[in-house]
Amino acid sequence: MSSITNLTTEQKKAPYPHMLAPLDLGFTTLKNRVLMGSMHTGLEEEKNGFDKLAVFYAERARGGVGLIVTGGIAPNFRGRIAPHGSQLSFSWQTSKHKKVTDAVHKEGGKICLQILHTGRYAYHPFNISASAIKAPINPFKPRQMSERQIKKTIKDFASTCELAQKSGYDGVEIMGSEGYLINQFLCQRTNQRQDQWGGSYENRMRLALEIVKASRKKVGTDFIIIFRLSMLDLVEQGSDWDEVVELAKALEQAGVTIINTGIGWHEARIPTIATSVPRAAFSWVTAKMKKEVSVPLITTNRINTPEVAEDILSRGDADMVSMARPMLADADFVNKAAQDKSDSINICIACNQACLDHVFKQKRASCLVNPRACYETELNFEKSKHTKKLAVIGGGMAGMSFAIYAKQRGHEVTLFEAKEQLGGQFNLAKNVPGKEEFIESLKYFTSELERQNIKVHLNSRQTVEQLTGAGFDEVILATGVVPRIPAIDGIDHPSVFNYQQVLSGEAKIGNKVAVLGAGGIGYDISEFLTEKGESHTENLALWLEEWGIDQNITHRGGIDGVQQVKPESARRIFMLQRKNERFGKSLQPTTGWIHRAALKKRTVEMIGGVSYEKIDDNGLHISIDGQSQLLDVDNIVVCTGQESQNQLKKGLLDANIPVHLIGGADFAGELDAKRAIRQGAELAARI
Ligand code: NAP
Ligand code: SF4
Repeated sequence: MSSITNLTTEQKKAPYPHMLAPLDLGFTTLKNRVLMGSMHTGLEEEKNGFDKLAVFYAERARGGVGLIVTGGIAPNFRGRIAPHGSQLSFSWQTSKHKKVTDAVHKEGGKICLQILHTGRYAYHPFNISASAIKAPINPFKPRQMSERQIKKTIKDFASTCELAQKSGYDGVEIMGSEGYLINQFLCQRTNQRQDQWGGSYENRMRLALEIVKASRKKVGTDFIIIFRLSMLDLVEQGSDWDEVVELAKALEQAGVTIINTGIGWHEARIPTIATSVPRAAFSWVTAKMKKEVSVPLITTNRINTPEVAEDILSRGDADMVSMARPMLADADFVNKAAQDKSDSINICIACNQACLDHVFKQKRASCLVNPRACYETELNFEKSKHTKKLAVIGGGMAGMSFAIYAKQRGHEVTLFEAKEQLGGQFNLAKNVPGKEEFIESLKYFTSELERQNIKVHLNSRQTVEQLTGAGFDEVILATGVVPRIPAIDGIDHPSVFNYQQVLSGEAKIGNKVAVLGAGGIGYDISEFLTEKGESHTENLALWLEEWGIDQNITHRGGIDGVQQVKPESARRIFMLQRKNERFGKSLQPTTGWIHRAALKKRTVEMIGGVSYEKIDDNGLHISIDGQSQLLDVDNIVVCTGQESQNQLKKGLLDANIPVHLIGGADFAGELDAKRAIRQGAELAARI
């Protein structure tokens, strides 16, 4: 049923023949092998959020995706992700879901509702689990579920499944992975019950199977039931491989249509989707399961281009690929691939900055490289009634973003860049180990400028006189930032460099280095300077070894008892900050711990609460609690923030030319590409 080995001659002609082959599920056929994976957007809980969700999903359906799975919706109150989390338990709640299913069907798409009971991960005091064991990532300790609560929960899942069918969904996905309730019952780590729901594996998997059986009974045979199965828990006392296979076989018997792959619990301290994780890092897990069951299998995690997807599917590692974040980055992903225009896809760089980090902070998700994501009804680039002649000064992410969207509105746009290449700070970021993906955004934005025939002048530093003489109606200053140079005695010593000189390769750096500043850039520089040999992001075997993941899965959860291999450090680094607080506090919630772990492994020495006294031939003189000491380092790298660069502003205003500041030129503090790109897009939408 699920094989893609026998492609027809017609199918073989398609650009990505395996990815674009239909999947026949017997009672229904999916038009291709691309699943838009489940992702909470935050719209689920917003006032009128389902109207916005309908437009959001409709755009993805129109973009050609084979099947969509919604963000997680709870089957009952206790299973909600947060007190106001979304739930589908009553008939009156179906009307808002109908808006979504109707919109998707109108575009020729198919959509499943994900049913998610968060168990001990629920961020409220009413949470429950198999046993009363607190999750390390949640302050709320769960209560142990009674037998009655377990039976009621099974009924609630089945009832939500039935309501999903009534709402017009093509199926459901039952969330059994990532450490949520069903997963909590499966593993001894969280299930220490002695009744029929705990103890033996047969007992621990009972909840999963009873939920599937009860759900199937409610909806009949012609309704998709996907089960998201945790194939690799990546936590101690997780399932072992034999248990995972036993459950997969039992799920097949119980009537699931498709099994999706789950990798890692949320509390796992192994990165699974961050940008430093190699592409398709876990498809080998699904490939292992392919030998065991005959229902179609979906693989997932760090699949972000049609090439990676095609590679996995053509090898037969899976029957479908799941991509959630890539569909935020580009709603037209599948259509562009089908038209053999994959170089025009806006690729997800796995930064998490606008999607998961937002969800984590209970903000609406969006996408760093596509600020329209989840703002489809609010951020649009309709043709302007008054075409303007606009100059954009600065070809970093802010300037490029503005130029592209303003051109879409019909404005005449000319972009001037002082350097010989476009990209600004992204040209430096892409050199940081584990940030290789950033090159994809540079490629996309620069090629989009070309596709839209936007006039670009490189090596072109503009003056006020040139701009005023050229007849521009308005000028957009996207001139970015310069590194902040702290006032330390001896800061102009030849051993001192700023982070830009280091990342560009301009500075020759010795073996012992002091990094001043411990913000995102201090961390990036420390990773850059300690990296030895090949980037692990580009070498899966080394990456798996570094994080102690056993590819034979002979250890529980794939990691229990496996030693992590510490990477060798290329240099001795001291990272310093003046504050006397935890290092890395300003880093992003979903990735900060990965950067902290990376520097710990490379034994970077962190010294907080320092005062900088002076720099001389002997090194860096600091004092801590009034005690002076010398760090006899070869070099000092300054990562102490940035200052805005917008010197043209005054002259232009004096010449009565309207000026707009975006990105770092507007405000240097907390500058990141997310704000720069969004600011460019928002200005373009209203100018
Ligand atoms: P930052 O986060 O503001 O950090 C600047 C560091 O310099 C702080 O550790 C600060 O600590 C120190 N500092 C500030 N003023 C100083 C002064 N006058 N003298 C000496 N030390 C001073 O800036 P950043 O690291 O340049 O990062 C800029 C932006 O890029 C961030 O907002 C971040 O969003 C983004 N970014 C993020 C990442 C990431 O998350 N991985 C990576 C790169 C960039 P003390 O004041 O305690 O010394
Ligand atoms: Fe991908 Fe980053 Fe966009 Fe999230 S914010 S979808 S990780 S590019």
